[in-house]
Amino acid sequence: MLVEYGRPLEMRERPLPVPHSGEIRVKVTACGVCRTDLHVVDGELPKVPLPLVPGHEIVGQVEEIGLGVSGFELGQRVGIPWLGHTCGRCAYCLSGRENLCDRPLFTGYTRDGGYATHAIADARYAFALTSAKPDQLLAPLLCAGLIGWRSLRMAGEAKSLGLYGFGAAAHIIAQVARWQGRRVFAFTRKGDTQAQAFASRLGAEWVGASDEAPPEPLDAAIIYAPVGALVPQALKSVRKGGRVVCAGIHMSDLPSIPYKLLWEERQILSVANLTREDGDSFFRLVPQIAIETSITPYPLADANRALGDLREGKLLGAAVLTM
Ligand SMILES: [Zn+2]
Ligand SMILES: [Zn+2]
Repeated sequence: MLVEYGRPLEMRERPLPVPHSGEIRVKVTACGVCRTDLHVVDGELPKVPLPLVPGHEIVGQVEEIGLGVSGFELGQRVGIPWLGHTCGRCAYCLSGRENLCDRPLFTGYTRDGGYATHAIADARYAFALTSAKPDQLLAPLLCAGLIGWRSLRMAGEAKSLGLYGFGAAAHIIAQVARWQGRRVFAFTRKGDTQAQAFASRLGAEWVGASDEAPPEPLDAAIIYAPVGALVPQALKSVRKGGRVVCAGIHMSDLPSIPYKLLWEERQILSVANLTREDGDSFFRLVPQIAIETSITPYPLADANRALGDLREGKLLGAAVLTM
């Protein structure tokens, strides 16, 4: 768990948590490591009281069911995502935009997450996972997949799609986009031939460095890397009326942008969190697409090493903690 911002996580023994009314306790078997976890432990998001247990790409089995929970059975496999709770009463919740709820709880941030042997979840925000895939291959779908899916929807009808930063989210969404019949153009760090080969293998028809121009203007671009300087690059790559979707929760500052890059009805959008409908629609697609997730497993005790490898850009695909 995180006991001090900017310090390595510490392993602590705690009593087994008991689910309250409406909650389930899940025996965690796998938890993906997301870039947001880095922003949390580095204190780059608004700071919340510590200690906290990071991790919001949780896969495990239902081990205990609180009062009033319906739809789950003991032993059932479930996934717990970033959106942990919403108020159900604010204007956003009431208009189908619970991702923007005024009083939300986020797993692994404002409620304890999955870098642990057990986790408690509000059952209404957990997803039944029916795929035949092993738990550790499903974990990255819980955020890289889900936020990726929301960002892909926000890209609209784009037939040609640029993906900036080819990591955990892009490697999943490239496959979804290809399955939908879109054309994928992958932008990576300059000289990252490994990531470029990876993108080609997953169906990108063009790969290049993020400061390169694509061979033709694109309909939309999604930025997964937390680098504000990519926004003008992406704007240059999209056609008139094109969209640039920023998919990260945190990004370095945007540089000053000449207005002509935005002119001609180009748009810049950001994606925040997810709704349960995003999850339901995405997990309905997952069995049809046969998404291949590329993961690097780490034992729970090596969570700091996993975070370090993600920070240094050493991973191809996603890091997953296994318990
Ligand atoms: Zn709300
Ligand atoms: Zn995440």
